This record gives sequence, structure tokens and C-alpha cells, in this order.
Amino acid sequence: MGALKGTDTNMDQTPHNSQPPGGASLFAAIRSAAPDGSRVFIRDVAGHRLTYHEMYAETARIANCLVAAGLRPGDRLAVQVEKSVTAILVALACMRAGAIFLPLSPAYTLAELEYFLADAEPSCVVVQPGKQSSIGSMLAGKAAILTLDSGGKRGSLIDGTRGMPDSIHDVPRTADDLAAILYTSGTTGRSKGAMLTHYNLVSNALTLRDLWRFTRDDVLLHALPVYHTHGLFTATNTVLMAGASMVFLPRFDAELIFAHLPGCTTMMGVPTFYTRLLADPRLTREAAAHMRVFISGSAPLLPETHREWFDRTGHAILERYGMTETNMIASNPYDGERRAGAVGYPLPGVDLRVVDGGTGEALPDGEIGMIELRGPNVCKGYWRKPEQTAETFRGDGFFVTGDLGRINADGYLEIVGRAKDLVITGGFNVYPREVEFEIDAIPGVVESAVIGVPHPDFGEGVTAVIVRKRDVELSESVILEALRERLAKFKLPKRVVFRDVLPRNAMGKVQKNELRNIYRDLYVNS
Ligand code: AMP
Repeated sequence: MGALKGTDTNMDQTPHNSQPPGGASLFAAIRSAAPDGSRVFIRDVAGHRLTYHEMYAETARIANCLVAAGLRPGDRLAVQVEKSVTAILVALACMRAGAIFLPLSPAYTLAELEYFLADAEPSCVVVQPGKQSSIGSMLAGKAAILTLDSGGKRGSLIDGTRGMPDSIHDVPRTADDLAAILYTSGTTGRSKGAMLTHYNLVSNALTLRDLWRFTRDDVLLHALPVYHTHGLFTATNTVLMAGASMVFLPRFDAELIFAHLPGCTTMMGVPTFYTRLLADPRLTREAAAHMRVFISGSAPLLPETHREWFDRTGHAILERYGMTETNMIASNPYDGERRAGAVGYPLPGVDLRVVDGGTGEALPDGEIGMIELRGPNVCKGYWRKPEQTAETFRGDGFFVTGDLGRINADGYLEIVGRAKDLVITGGFNVYPREVEFEIDAIPGVVESAVIGVPHPDFGEGVTAVIVRKRDVELSESVILEALRERLAKFKLPKRVVFRDVLPRNAMGKVQKNELRNIYRDLYVNS
């Protein structure tokens, strides 16, 4: 049946789902994982570096400053700052103080912030100096406010750390205590805060360290944002649990990537990192020869990108699958086949099943259904949203991902797309990924997104939005002709439209909502 335990697969690992070594808190786990404090933890592009010892001292000073500002164990610390080394130290300091870290994208507007701050009720907020007065007046004295500039070098938080002791008694946390609340990007309704425990973070990071073979000799090239789980936890905590090191780029920038790649051994990125690097002639076999592994996630990696990357560099990208609410769920194997278009096996300790979304019955292997999982990585629920929490967990504790997928005969999981992106046309289900796959294989196509758009006859009309290669003549009729012999009639797009680019968010996810909105009148009067 379509159910797998991470330990049933060929991932010969011990699941980290018992109390982690050295105590339950993330920081206690870091200390026991990185006993050699003289090693470098982090380096920025200006060449500044911090050893583990220096990181311990610096996070203690920041934690002492936050405590002095009124942050108590169990309080929320909301942080809306640009990426910097200090920003990551603030997250660690927050957890040392026993408080709950609440990162917010710098792109959020004041109106959006108002919702998050009212929902989370932080006792302390850290913002860029330019936003202090507007956010300060919104908080109306209900929370302390501190500032940190975009370089992470100035602001009242930094001033406040001067003279603070460089040690602190880490507030003990049980495995069940919250380490962070991460608001999910929720495209419908309001964002919900996923409540992540220390145990969720520690167990997942130890598992990833072992699975992806991170050791203290690794140097990770870190170009991801740190308000999202990928850069904040997946990348950073895997490094920390190995006592390894990372080069912290302020953002993805091909110049910076090629400048720093030679000093690194690993990179984690979203698929757009890989497609952009492929477009750069500096990406050669020699440039990547010293690298140990390239890892991709947060959005589907096109099989084409996987193959091109392998041809250019000799490296098979290791694709994995995860969510804000669950940390990492599944991964292609380190040693076995890293399969294009698949996300591999459930992680050790994760029970995963594919079920009929309506009945909840497990489906046979190969059939498409809702992906559900249970394991030490899954969050406790949504902050102050008991109803949404109850809707997202089954009675037996399985978390409903909202992603559709299937388990192949050899146990590899394939993601087909979000359930809400499923197109229902004339009563038939069309899985966009299946159609996108065929479109992407047509010569001259760069990428595609298949969406359902209101249709007077069919309910929804299958609609293909395509980006074609520059200087290539590709018309709607050519695409439809090519698809006709590959897809059943009901799956064929009713219309094909061309665009220069697909709208994506910062994590590289195609914004299908936006596309549905743009093309919502396509079939009006048709
Ligand atoms: P987020 O909570 O922002 O990390 O988004 C999680 C969602 O991203 C998942 O529910 C999937 O829909 C999608 N996702 C993450 N990794 C992959 C992947 N490797 N392939 C396809 N979709 C992915």
C-alpha cells in the first residue's frame, strides 16, 4: 500500500526520534555536536568570521540584551531584518533565553506586520532602524522594540550588547517547548503560525546531518533567506549539528556564488538558484569539481535542470522535500540513485502515506493521492488556531500536507503538486504536473505552469502558461499538436498562453494564484 516508514527504505540510518544528546534544547544539542569551539562557524562576504566559541559568546551577549529588554522564557521575539550574520545569532540567542523565535520577511508591509504582531503578541520586536517609528507606534508600548541595521553591525540591539556578559545560563527547555513560530505563506485566508518545538528542529537536523553526510570539514554556501525554514533551519541547523562551517551570502547573486564556491564543499538552494547558475558560462565541471554535494528543495526541480546540471558539472543534484510545518520530510539518497523528478524516500523516523483525500484510505503504490506523515519533525499545530490545527491532523496523528503525490514501486516519492492546484474539468481530475511534464519536453519550451481557470462549460478549463526560449517560434497550435498524441483529450489545455517569465516568490515557488487571477477571464464568452 502507499505507505512507507523512513526506516523501511534503503536509508540505513538510526532515526533521531528519541531525546537528543546533551538535552532537549537546540542550543544544548549544538554544544554537544560542536565540541571544538576553535573551528569557524560562519563567515560573511567581507571576510569576517566567527568561531563556535565566538558565536557562543556573541549569542550570550545578545540573549542578555534581549532579557534586559524584557524577553522572558516562552515569550515571542518577532524579528524583521535583512539577512546578516547577526540576524542568525539573534535566532540562536532567542532560543538560549528560552523564548520563541518569530522571523518575518523584510518584504512584509506594515499592514501585514500588524496581523502577525497582533496574532503572536511578541514581548520584544527587532526591526531595521528605518521602521522603528512606524512599527513602534503600531506596537503602542505593548512590546519592547530594538533595532538592527541591514549589515547587522549597528542599532540599539548591538549597542545594548556592549558590556553584557558573554555567558548566560541557557534556559532549560523540554523537547516539547516551542523554539519558533513560522508563519506559512498561506495563499488563501490568513497566514498561520506553525509551532515548531526544539525537538522538531534538533531531531530533523541530526537526521539530515547523517543522511547528507555533513562533517566538521564541510563548508556550506548559504545564499538563502533566513526568515524561511530552508535557510533558517534546514541549512543552518544541519551545519550546526555537524560542527561545520558556512559562508553567509546576503542573497543569491551569481557573482558572489562564483567568488565563494571555491572555498565551499556544499550548497543548498531553491531550483531557481540552479537554473540561474546554469545560464552562467562560469558554471563548469572544473568550477564544481571540489564540491561534495548540491541540494535542492522548496519547489520542484525540473528534471531538465537535474540533467543539465549533471551534464555540466558531473554532480547529480540531491532533491529533498519539506514544509514549514514539518521540516524535511523526504530526501533522495546520498549514495543511491538521485532521481530527477522525485524527492526520494521518507526520512528515517518519518511514517508517510498517500491516501484518498476524501476517505482517508491508504492508496496502492503508484496511485496519486494526498501525502500525509507522522514523525518527530512535525509541528505541534498552528498558533492559537485550534480549528485549523484539528483540520490538518488526522485522528491517528498524521499531518495532512495538502500536497498530492505518489509512491513508485521502488519506494521513491513523487510530488504532483498542491491539492488546491488540481484542475477539475468536466468532472475529470487533471494533475498539472503531468501536463507540465509533457509541455516541458517540447523543444523550445523553458518551463510551464498549468492552471485551472473558470470555464462556462467545463467548470475549469485546463490552461497552459508557457515560457519559450528566446528566438524560438512556438505557437499555441504547435504546442497542442505536440500534446495531442501524449495526453488524453480531457487533459489537453483548452488554451495556451505565452509569458516572458512565471511569477515566483522568494523561495522560487511559481505563484499559481497570481496566474489564475491574471487569466481568470480567459474563457468568458468563449
Ligand atoms: P514551505 O512551507 O514554504 O516550505 O512550502 C512547502 C511546500 O513547498 C510543500 O508543501 C510543497 O508543495 C513544496 N515543495 C517543497 N519541496 C518540494 C520539492 N522538492 N518538490 C516539489 N514541491 C516541493
